[in-house]
Amino acid sequence: MNQTLEWDEDSRAERAADTFRRLFGGPPDGMWAAPGRVNLIGEHTDYNDGFALPMALPHTTLLAARARTDGRLRLHSAQGDGRITDLAVAALDPDAVTGWAAYPAGVVWALAEAGHPVGGADLHFDSTVPTGAGLSSSAALECAVAVAYDDLYGLRLPGPELARIAQRAENAFAGVPCGIMDQMASVCCTAGAALHLDARSPQDHRQVPFDLQGQGLRLLVIDTRVSHDLGDGAYAALRAGCERAAALLGLPALRDLPPGELARALRILPAELAPLVRHVVTENARVAEAVSRLREGDVAALGPILTAGHASLRDDYRVSCPETDLAVTAALGAGALGARMTGGGFGGSVIALVEAGQEDAVGVSVTTAFGAAGHRPPRILCVTPAAGAHRLAPPLGTR
Ligand code: ADP
Ligand code: MG
Repeated sequence: MNQTLEWDEDSRAERAADTFRRLFGGPPDGMWAAPGRVNLIGEHTDYNDGFALPMALPHTTLLAARARTDGRLRLHSAQGDGRITDLAVAALDPDAVTGWAAYPAGVVWALAEAGHPVGGADLHFDSTVPTGAGLSSSAALECAVAVAYDDLYGLRLPGPELARIAQRAENAFAGVPCGIMDQMASVCCTAGAALHLDARSPQDHRQVPFDLQGQGLRLLVIDTRVSHDLGDGAYAALRAGCERAAALLGLPALRDLPPGELARALRILPAELAPLVRHVVTENARVAEAVSRLREGDVAALGPILTAGHASLRDDYRVSCPETDLAVTAALGAGALGARMTGGGFGGSVIALVEAGQEDAVGVSVTTAFGAAGHRPPRILCVTPAAGAHRLAPPLGTR
């Protein structure tokens, strides 16, 4: 199990501040952090105006930042290509920036486009969020910029508005058609809780206590380290299918189909749309069920809900793949209380709820099954629900 990650934000921040000084010739104005996320349940529901239950990871993107008065935006990442990207804020345009810099630059563009008085900055990122693993390193990158700019330029925007700006950056500037969940999780989650999110009214999100430790449980994130290329086009097709189904049913969104009317809807929908609708409606019901169980303090009850969610994504929504299916089967076979793929699908990560003390057995079982199937070894992390995006306290002596 990979537990070599450096959790200590202070020592990571010190290193990032040193690099910032070396790159940009002076100290940063401050340090910010934004986490990656896993979604416990509620997949492919956000763009159907539905519900989700993500939690923030202890893995964060740190940002050392300093405002500039000359309108330049200079970007550097420890996980980038070693170069500084130098842009003019006034000339930011969705077609003008390619590669990783589009995510942070997109946030500055989206803030300016929304009429907020923002200027330039020097930004250095250093992240422990695995990239491309379905854990939202892209949202962490965006949300770090959103919270830093909120402070540096005195915007005082509410969390859901910062999340919306970050989502707009990803959609319109980086060109990735994601829903609002990733950014809401990165900005609005709190430590020890999952975030009950209603994508129709993100401002009404609720914190749901998620006490894994107190219940003798652990949550594993199994990064399958595969990402099948059909992902992007398939995502757009699924979204379009859901919108068409809602239109055929005369509803604003699939979220508006009550579970009691599902059977009738399935009879009248075209065969290719019916399973999509069944997934979305039952998945929203699973979120409600999970929230009820967690509010009762019964974390273990989440297990069967996760496993049912996986079956729905595999059989109805069809966004699973052999590697995620194998990780789920192997985890359950080794005694996990529940497991499912998380994120958009076609690879990425699986989560498994396990009894404390079973982490290694489940990890070994999944790794062995991957080896036997000829897959690369997965990367396995044991995670706890962490804090959303925040500013780091200045080091002692400078306060
Ligand atoms: P996920 O969000 O699931 O990790 P995405 O494909 O949405 O996967 O986003 C991954 C992309 O985000 C990377 O390819 C890279 O362009 C960008 N990215 C994320 N974190 C960083 C970082 N710390 N430094 C540079 N680029 C990053
Ligand atoms: Mg992403």
